[in-house]
Amino acid sequence: MEAPPPPSTNKLQQQEFTLASVTDLTSSSSPSPSSAVATFSCVNEVSELRFQESESAHGFTFDLSSTQLFKLGPLQFICVSDCSDSVKETSFSRGVVIKFSDEKESKVFSDSFEEWTKDAARKGSSLPNGTVSDGNSKFDNKIEAASAKMYFHYYGQLLHQQNMLQDYVRTGTYHAAVMENRSDFSGRVVVDVGAGSGILSMFAALAGAKHVYAVEASEMADYARKLIAGNPLLAERITVIKGKIEDIELPEKADVLISEPMGTLLVNERMLETYVIARDRFLSPNGKMFPTVGRIHMAPFSDEFLFVEMANKALFWQQQNYYGVDLTPLYASAHQGYFSQPVVDAFDPRLLVAPPMFHVIDFTQMKEEQFYEIDVPLKFTASVCGRVHGLACWFDVLFDGSTVQRWFTTAPGAPTTHWYQIRCVLSQPIHVMAGQELTGRLHLVAHSTQSYTINLTLSAKMWGPGANQGGILQTSSCKFDLKEPYYRMSQPQVYPVAQETPAQPQDIQIQSDDLEEIELLQQNANAQL
Ligand code: SAH
Repeated sequence: MEAPPPPSTNKLQQQEFTLASVTDLTSSSSPSPSSAVATFSCVNEVSELRFQESESAHGFTFDLSSTQLFKLGPLQFICVSDCSDSVKETSFSRGVVIKFSDEKESKVFSDSFEEWTKDAARKGSSLPNGTVSDGNSKFDNKIEAASAKMYFHYYGQLLHQQNMLQDYVRTGTYHAAVMENRSDFSGRVVVDVGAGSGILSMFAALAGAKHVYAVEASEMADYARKLIAGNPLLAERITVIKGKIEDIELPEKADVLISEPMGTLLVNERMLETYVIARDRFLSPNGKMFPTVGRIHMAPFSDEFLFVEMANKALFWQQQNYYGVDLTPLYASAHQGYFSQPVVDAFDPRLLVAPPMFHVIDFTQMKEEQFYEIDVPLKFTASVCGRVHGLACWFDVLFDGSTVQRWFTTAPGAPTTHWYQIRCVLSQPIHVMAGQELTGRLHLVAHSTQSYTINLTLSAKMWGPGANQGGILQTSSCKFDLKEPYYRMSQPQVYPVAQETPAQPQDIQIQSDDLEEIELLQQNANAQL
C-alpha cells in the first residue's frame, strides 16, 4: 500500500453568531424575544444548531439533518426542525424566529446554514463508494468523509495499483510467503483484506485456497472482478465483494487473512485498524494472518545536507523586499511548517548514529483502539560523534507461515521499496559523543484523516564532569503530520563516507559559510565516487 496525496481537511468544527433576538414559537415560557447566540457545531458526528438566550439559561438544540431555514426578510429567519421522540413515538415541529442586527452577519449565517446542513446530510446518507451506511459504521464514525472519498478515489485508479504491483520487493515477498507456505492456504477459506487489483487473492488461489473472499471498498473492486474473470482457473474460487471490511458480511469464517495494510511508518492510512477489525469479524479462532507481526524500527541520524536543505526552503520568507513587500512576518511559520513534514526518501544507513531499536505491533493481538495512540519510549547509545538531526524510521513485517517464516523489510540499505524510509527532522539538532545516551519519546496520535500526528522528543544526557548529577543537557522536540510528508526521492543524495563530523556549535544558523562547508563536503564526496 502506498500513501495517497493529502486530501483537503477542511472540517467544520464550530461557528458562532450573535443574534439580536430569538423567539421560541413553541415554548410558552419565553414569549418575548431576547438576544442570543446561535452556534453550529458537530458533536459525535451529529451536526447541530444551538440557540442560547443571553439573559437566561434557556437554550435549545436543533439537529441539522432535519432543520429548515426560511427567510422572512433581510434580517429575519424562521428556523423549523422536526423533533421526534422515539420513546413516545411522537413527532412534532419546533420553530424559532431569529433576527440579526446586521445584514452581512445574516447573510453569512444563511450561507453557513446551507453548508452545515449539506455536511449533516453527507454524514447521514450515502458513502463515496456507493455502499450505504447504516449511520453506525465503525469506519465512517472515525474517518472524515472527505478523507475517505479521496483515499478510495486514489485506490480506485489502476495507475496506483500498478505502482504497488511494480514494487517487486513487496509483491515478490508476498508471492514467496504464500507459495512457500502452501499448506496454510491449501483447502482453506481466505479473506483478502483490501484486495485492490485482487493480486493477493490470486496468489492465495494459486496456493490452493478452497475459496477467497476479496474485499475491496474502492472502485478497484470492479477491475479486480475483470482481472480475476480473465484468470478462469482461479476465478471459480474467488468472490470479489465491493465494500468496506467494517460494513460487509461474509457467509463463512476464514482460516487465513491476507492483506497489505502497511503505510509509511507502518501505521499511516490507519488500515491496520481495518486489518484487526477483519480479524475480529471474520477469522476463526486459530486462523492465520499474513502478515502476522509488524515492527517499527527507529534510530537517530545525522544528515547535514538534509537539515540545510529544509532550513533553506524557509529562507524564501526572509526576503524583506519581495516586489516591495516584506515577507519576514511569515518566516517563523514557514520554517515550522517545513520542519513538521516527515521526510520520505531512501537514505544511506551510514547516516545512523546509533544502533536502531524497534517497537512490535502484533496484528494477532492488537486491539483496534490501541492504534489510536501509540507511545514508544526511546533509548539509544550513540556509536559515533556528531550532530543528531532527528529520528529515522522504517518498518518490517513477518509472515509467520507454518513452513517458512519470512520477513519483509523496508530498512535503509535493503532493496528499496515504494515506502522508502521516513525521517523526522528536528529544527534544533543535538550534539552527541560516541557512547553517549540519547533518550526520548515517539508519541503517535491517530487523526480522523487516516493518519497520525507525530510528537518526537530526543534528549542527550550530560556528558563528562557533572553527568551523574542528573541534569539533561540538550532536549529537542518537534511535531509532525504524517499525512503531509515531504517526498524527497527525486535527486540521488551523495553522502561523505566518514560519519564523524567535527563538533559544532548548537545553535545552527544557516549562513553562507555553512553552505560553503557543505558544498565542499559534497565535492569531496563526489571526488570519492
Ligand atoms: N492487496 C492489494 C492492494 C493493497 S492497497 C495489493 O497488495 O496489491 C490497500 C487496498 O485496501 C486499497 O485498494 C484500498 O482501497 C483497500 N482498503 C483500504 N481500507 C479498506 C477497508 N476499510 N475496506 C475495504 N478495503 C479497504
